[in-house]
Amino acid sequence: MAGQKVTISVIKADIGSIAGHHKVHPDTILAASRVLAEAKRKGVIKSFYVTHVGDDLQLIMTHFKGVDSPEIHELAWNAFKEATKVAKELGLYAAGQDLLSDAFSGNVRGMGPGVAEMEFVERPAEPVIVFMADKTEPGAFNLPLYKIFADPFNTAGLVIDPRMHDGFVFEVLDVYEGRMVKLNTPEELYDLLALIGTPGRYVIKRVYRKSDGEIGAVVSSERLNLIAGKYVGKDDPVMIVRAQSGFPAVGEILEAFSFPHLVAGWMRGSHHGPLMPVGLKDAKCTRFDGPPRVVALGFQIKNGELIGPADLFDDVAFDETRRLAQQVAEYLRRHGPFMPHRLGPEEMEYTTLPKVLEKLKDRFVKADLGYQPKLKRSEELTGPEHE
Ligand SMILES: [Mg+2]
Repeated sequence: MAGQKVTISVIKADIGSIAGHHKVHPDTILAASRVLAEAKRKGVIKSFYVTHVGDDLQLIMTHFKGVDSPEIHELAWNAFKEATKVAKELGLYAAGQDLLSDAFSGNVRGMGPGVAEMEFVERPAEPVIVFMADKTEPGAFNLPLYKIFADPFNTAGLVIDPRMHDGFVFEVLDVYEGRMVKLNTPEELYDLLALIGTPGRYVIKRVYRKSDGEIGAVVSSERLNLIAGKYVGKDDPVMIVRAQSGFPAVGEILEAFSFPHLVAGWMRGSHHGPLMPVGLKDAKCTRFDGPPRVVALGFQIKNGELIGPADLFDDVAFDETRRLAQQVAEYLRRHGPFMPHRLGPEEMEYTTLPKVLEKLKDRFVKADLGYQPKLKRSEELTGPEHE
């Protein structure tokens, strides 16, 4: 077993829920669990934990087949298919929503489900935290990841732990153009921030320890609307972070969520709202289908086995964060359909708003502005200028 690499795979999908987009039905969790239990019996996976956050069904699995294993992806796909059958029988809302294709083709990436996987050699004690968010997008983890791995005001270990003192490498994806860049911190902090401050486009995919290249974090980066080319629900990302012994402590990782920063998502995937950390018992969305929430489950991995979980945000220490989140939610809600509560035009392209605007197109008549406007594609950092 020593030196053997273990893989943790977190694969999630919204396959239908009770009462609109509120929460997953327990019978669909059972249906998925049965599929994974059978796979465990056959030795395909070592262990698993099935749960939900809001309307997203979450499969947490450990195995020895590496990332992007067709066998593991097909297993997850089959679990979602079985759960979807139950969702359809029960008439759940949006049954099968995230399964964008009918047939499995070797990898669930690009087919609707969100995927975060990492492979590593187990340390003698291997704490990992699985974060699962509902009513938001993968870029929602940009700000907390920056704080966890690059901000010494959040993570004391960056200053005082010699194993972390060299810093970390951030792998950033441009999800519009399918490009990736690796940036070193602390020396390229400002370049990193110049990108990840646009979380709808630049998504932190992975973080590595600079001194030895060991993986510290991975995020699901699938953006459903960009896969489908239209609005099909929010992406509701998941993230795996390794903790302690050369990585940030569990408390340093959780600390990054003590500020309920604004994220895109919430009602109809079209609004900004605060990301509220909650325990599993509160992992269900109500007010205006939100506010967006995130759950953190802590595990130890031993000989490839998941030990746990610990429901880490189920703690009074996050009560004030939740209270602030609700005050921010109230403040934003008062804006109704106005920005910045409603998302900007480039994100609204993928909602049903363009259909409404199309109707007004022929009603516009020429108006004299007194000047000739010179336009740029200002909503993006790159892109062609046009008149
Ligand atoms: Mg969801």
